[in-house]
Amino acid sequence: MIEARVARGAASSLVLNRSADVIAAHLEDAAHFPGGRADAFARPGTEADVAAVLTTATAILPIGAQSSLSGGATPHGGVILSTDRFAAIEPVDAEHVRVGAGVPLLVLQESLTRAHRWYPPVPTFTGACVGGVIATNEPPAFAMALITTTSEAAALALTADLRDASQMTWHTGDAHGIDVSAIEHMDGRCIGIVHEDGADLRNDITLAPDSQVVLFVHIELPRGSSATTLFDEVEHALDPGAADTPMTRLCRLLGRLGVLDRTELAMPGDTPRLSQFLALREAAPTGVNRRVGEAKRDIDPRIEKTAADMIVPFGRLAEMMRIYRDGYQRRGLDFAIWGHISDGNLHPNVLPRSYNDVAAGKEAILEFGREAARMGGCPLAEHGVGRNPVKQQLLLNMYGATGIAEMRAIKRALDPDGRLAPGVLFP
Ligand SMILES: Cc1cc2nc3c(=O)[nH]c(=O)nc-3n(C[C@H](O)[C@H](O)[C@H](O)COP(=O)(O)OP(=O)(O)OC[C@H]3O[C@@H](n4cnc5c(N)ncnc54)[C@H](O)[C@@H]3O)c2cc1C
Repeated sequence: MIEARVARGAASSLVLNRSADVIAAHLEDAAHFPGGRADAFARPGTEADVAAVLTTATAILPIGAQSSLSGGATPHGGVILSTDRFAAIEPVDAEHVRVGAGVPLLVLQESLTRAHRWYPPVPTFTGACVGGVIATNEPPAFAMALITTTSEAAALALTADLRDASQMTWHTGDAHGIDVSAIEHMDGRCIGIVHEDGADLRNDITLAPDSQVVLFVHIELPRGSSATTLFDEVEHALDPGAADTPMTRLCRLLGRLGVLDRTELAMPGDTPRLSQFLALREAAPTGVNRRVGEAKRDIDPRIEKTAADMIVPFGRLAEMMRIYRDGYQRRGLDFAIWGHISDGNLHPNVLPRSYNDVAAGKEAILEFGREAARMGGCPLAEHGVGRNPVKQQLLLNMYGATGIAEMRAIKRALDPDGRLAPGVLFP
């Protein structure tokens, strides 16, 4: 038995918008999952409005920014419930704010910056909304340095050293220690794509011709660190008498691994440069998605995004990377891999040239799922399950029919008529 309080706020005369144009603008999320359809679009402004939609509609899909990469924000009939009017940011006390579900991360971050506070999941995709981020359980990240390496092995070795150094800092609380919160990467095929698309030039980034991997290293620095002081620390980092600071230690570690000259830093406050790094990072998925869209248009309408999103313990990542490469290469597939390398969470994406490539890619992904689970990892790591049939199959493989039945029972207890996001997670 679930007891609920009365919805807050006054119910307005909320009108369900049935305009074809308005609905059409919300039929796709960033996964470009096909077949989006809806009967109406609602923009409630109070809890009472939401309650009114819940009691009348037969199917409801709440949406934030529709930046879902799993098709979870693609409607399949019923009412699309936008959260964009829940836009309030109310300070509770010095350490807490109450934030509306429809507040974009960028807006929240700007508001917190004024109070010298930080919301860890920023910046990832800063257009995502707080409600969407919570619903999809998005992980934290913070970007500052761009480093290229000449091999995947070198990228993994650097990532391992930065992880070890950061874990030491967290355990000891050393104020001078290296503190890297996340490292993302793109492989050689991604580099080829961003170069072909001109994203490096556009963002004023020169990648050395021998680069095989680009790393985006998210570094935490002491509060109040200024760009001027930090540049000074970088310049003198290798001097014997250099001050012992997190930046000095970082530069020394990068120097030891031979990548200091291949590193560019976007210092705190240098938002334009940081944005260019992030734009380069986003150019890989954007470039892949565009190519998939073109293949769908020009070669076969059944072609679709074919990608895994899996995590393994970091110590098994080198092995898992070999499995991704072997699995795709054995099937003659073109592919690009990027992701959260320091978490062991990668996105091996197929670049399909035919519908057969899509089918072969899906078969490879189910194989990867078994391997990830065998290594103590998870075949559904970051983007969730959504409406993707392969991901729904991976979920079933992971939890079995009994596990899925238990999940369905919980969903039924909260949503007895199956109105909330029907088809998301379970077919
Ligand atoms: C360029 C780009 C980069 C990205 N980078 C990352 C990344 O680094 N890390 C990462 O994890 N993800 C990333 N994503 C994916 C995406 O941004 C996240 O999944 C994000 O959390 C989705 O937020 P949203 O507001 O867009 O939610 P939507 O896409 O609108 O919704 C996602 C799901 O949550 C549900 N939902 C949304 N709001 C609510 C609510 N208020 N109450 C209940 N359910 C709700 C929806 O029904 C849907 O099933 C990226 C996406 C893009 C396009």
